[in-house]
Amino acid sequence: MQMATETPIAEAGNNFVRDIIRADLESKRVTGVVTRFPPEPNGYLHIGHAKSICLNFGTAQEFGGRCHLRFDDTNPTKEEQEYIDAIETDVRWLGFDWGKHLYYASDYFEQLYAWAEHLIEAGKAYVDDLNPDQMREMRGTLTEPGRNSPFRDRPVAENLDLFRRMRAGEFPNGARILRAKIDMAAGNMNLRDPALYRILHAEHPRTGGAWCIYPTYDFAHGQSDAIEGITHSVCTLEFEDHRPLYEWFLDNLPVPSRPRQYEFARLNLGYTVLSKRVLTELVRKGHVSGWDDPRMPTLAGLRRRGVPPAALREFVRRIGVARANSTVDVAMYEHPIRELLNKSALRRMAVLRPLKVVIENYPGDGTEELEAVNNPEDATAGSRSIRFGRELYVERDDFMEDPPKQFFRLAPGREVRLRYAYFITCREVVKDAAGQVVELRCTYDPATRGGNAPDGRKVKATLHWVAAADAVTAEVRLYDHLFGRPDPGADGDIFADLNPSSLEVLTDCRLEPAAAAAEAGQPVQFERLGYFCRDAKSPGLAFNRTIGLRDSFAKAQAG
Ligand code: ATP
Ligand code: MG
Repeated sequence: MQMATETPIAEAGNNFVRDIIRADLESKRVTGVVTRFPPEPNGYLHIGHAKSICLNFGTAQEFGGRCHLRFDDTNPTKEEQEYIDAIETDVRWLGFDWGKHLYYASDYFEQLYAWAEHLIEAGKAYVDDLNPDQMREMRGTLTEPGRNSPFRDRPVAENLDLFRRMRAGEFPNGARILRAKIDMAAGNMNLRDPALYRILHAEHPRTGGAWCIYPTYDFAHGQSDAIEGITHSVCTLEFEDHRPLYEWFLDNLPVPSRPRQYEFARLNLGYTVLSKRVLTELVRKGHVSGWDDPRMPTLAGLRRRGVPPAALREFVRRIGVARANSTVDVAMYEHPIRELLNKSALRRMAVLRPLKVVIENYPGDGTEELEAVNNPEDATAGSRSIRFGRELYVERDDFMEDPPKQFFRLAPGREVRLRYAYFITCREVVKDAAGQVVELRCTYDPATRGGNAPDGRKVKATLHWVAAADAVTAEVRLYDHLFGRPDPGADGDIFADLNPSSLEVLTDCRLEPAAAAAEAGQPVQFERLGYFCRDAKSPGLAFNRTIGLRDSFAKAQAG
């Protein structure tokens, strides 16, 4: 794939996981590196997952190991095939490949069940008939120990019989659970006889109606790692307290290998919500058009918005991997996107809010071809010809009838440069009955062809423009943060923090033909406006703004 020509993904940046792996290889604790990325197929992947993907796939790649994609599909009521497909697409898009190592926790249901019986037979698991409220009440608190369930000392034979009948479907949801028998007084709540299996009469996307009991995350995860020979099971910090349980299972079951779990800080990003629960609600409640709405922090949304996967990988590399939770400033995220697009995006001209300009002294109704550079950052991108003519469009914002001192763009009597074309001077302002400016009558100086005056006179502004003769009409969507504050939900109601103006749709934009010919997913810079990408999903011609230019051209001009 494209990756071969780029910087290896996990090459630099702080990454303590890499240090651990290096030490493990040196001490011969492991002979190779096997990691996994274990998504639950209950939603689309987001930029936080990108951190985990880059870490797991990237470090495996760096040490010549392999990384598995394993669907952690133990909760059939929330999981769907649509999510499985989307996750595979997104991981590939981000630039990673699991080869033949695609797994599902559900592949191990039979083995996990056998291991549950193994624990029962060893007197280390029991069937509990308490209802969820009683169980919660007896679990104790952080400061008080829990109390033993009256069912804790059931004989092995009775436990086995009940567990088999759970599997056979004899009991309704929630009637009984299988619990590990560890220690109800443990300081770590996860060791207070945690649940191993729950009854759930639900169809599973992959196992269908074969099961009506399902293993918990804790009972499935470590053992799945062990079955697959994972050497470094890397997860986010909230699982740190689960690690003793993870190890308890490995200690008490005849597992084929001994993985180790390491935790890192999850990614939090300003103005962004990365909770799947909230993202699901945004979709369900219609706050966004879907999981791939370009305002969503999902990989599908970012792809549709035109964010290059290489920029995401670079972002993840720069933020590094640490053990302390923190929130990353959006500027950190935006910077590599701009950097990469600046290098790679073709420059095009587009006018978002058109204002008609008529060049009165332009001969007849003719037009001519001028040369425009495709990318000043990349000489190999070449140039293209653009049409100039008597009728043009400029940006409405680039004209002011009564300009303040700092406004150097078009105004009555003012001369400016049209990029790649000529100097023009505004001679007359045409208004409609309502007093709205509808047209500017201008003159051009034929001696300034290409954009420079032979007499050396200067203008203070250069405007983008499009010739009316071959302009293509398109829709352009401008996006702002989906949430209006850097810490959405800090005051409680996260939905109250939605930014009411996160989307602006402009339907009468005019593009030069080369801009309109861009392919979906190919980044373009609309000069002075930002980076855009043609929307793959719209039936008509529509562009999504990926990101604005750092310094607005206007500001640079004024300065
Ligand atoms: P939930 O919101 O239900 O907790 P999740 O976002 O943790 O879901 P999973 O499918 O369980 O979703 O995540 C797969 C992997 O991605 C896990 O190993 C998880 O630790 C990691 N991950 C999830 N969110 C982030 C994040 N914000 N930063 C880094 N890694 C993350
Ligand atoms: Mg999770």
